[in-house]
Amino acid sequence: MNEQALARPDLPQVVASAPWIRRVPLRSPTLPPATHTNAYVLGESELLVVDPGSPWPDAQALLWDSLHALRAQGHTLRAVLLTHHHYDHVSGAAELARALGVPLWAHPDTQRRLSNQPELTIGERVRDGDLLPFGPRGLRVLHTPGHAPGHVCLVDEAGGGLIAGDMVASQGTIIVSPQDEGDMALYLSSLRLLLARGPQRVWPAHGIAVEEGDKLLLRYLQHRLLREEKVVRALQTGASTLTALLPLAYDDTPAALYPLARESLLAHLLALVTTDRVETSSNETDPEPTYRLR
Ligand SMILES: [Zn+2]
Repeated sequence: MNEQALARPDLPQVVASAPWIRRVPLRSPTLPPATHTNAYVLGESELLVVDPGSPWPDAQALLWDSLHALRAQGHTLRAVLLTHHHYDHVSGAAELARALGVPLWAHPDTQRRLSNQPELTIGERVRDGDLLPFGPRGLRVLHTPGHAPGHVCLVDEAGGGLIAGDMVASQGTIIVSPQDEGDMALYLSSLRLLLARGPQRVWPAHGIAVEEGDKLLLRYLQHRLLREEKVVRALQTGASTLTALLPLAYDDTPAALYPLARESLLAHLLALVTTDRVETSSNETDPEPTYRLR
């Protein structure tokens, strides 16, 4: 995999990995323009696999070959951890865990979301604050809901690196979809929580690792807050429905992306409702709910 080929030119780039953090980009059914989900293989002698998210045999074979090579070198595989329930993160996990004879780990809210997929039985639940015994000083679990209710990140307690899941990306877009239990208010809180940790290096699920990870997190937070401001300004015009607000709040977005933008707009409006800045009403005669500034 050519690191430069996936790079965004505006982000500082990492060429060398921490030796115990191994990134295996797998072609996956993810949201374009991203094409791959990074599986991570973390640890020194004991290993944790994170997000083996491809259902496709050629991609799975790539990961399995890497893991067989590590086993041959004397490493022991302990578990497969899922950062959240999305298909492009979990779809190779059941086969892999079965083949390796290891349990699946996830947050209880991810377990709930996967409960309709019996093959993805979570063997052990991880919670905010847990210290997982991988790497020189362990990996701290941070519960970071918003993109998904059970989303977790892992902080490298030795070097301040962050396995970020879908909190941020260096390729593609992070969606916060209320239809899928996405919650913008929680997402913004989780970004602030991660920023407070001041991570030096961020390892996202999509795209290459990013140095000065705090700057990446700050950029994501500022981008969302600017959008929130645009939503407020659109409400100030008197527009009150999603349909009327969309072209005002997303006037910089191509119409082809409006279906995704509409989800994002709804997420922002619900966050403004949560923080008491907007009230919403809907009744039988309204074709769609209305939103007004308080
Ligand atoms: Zn996701």
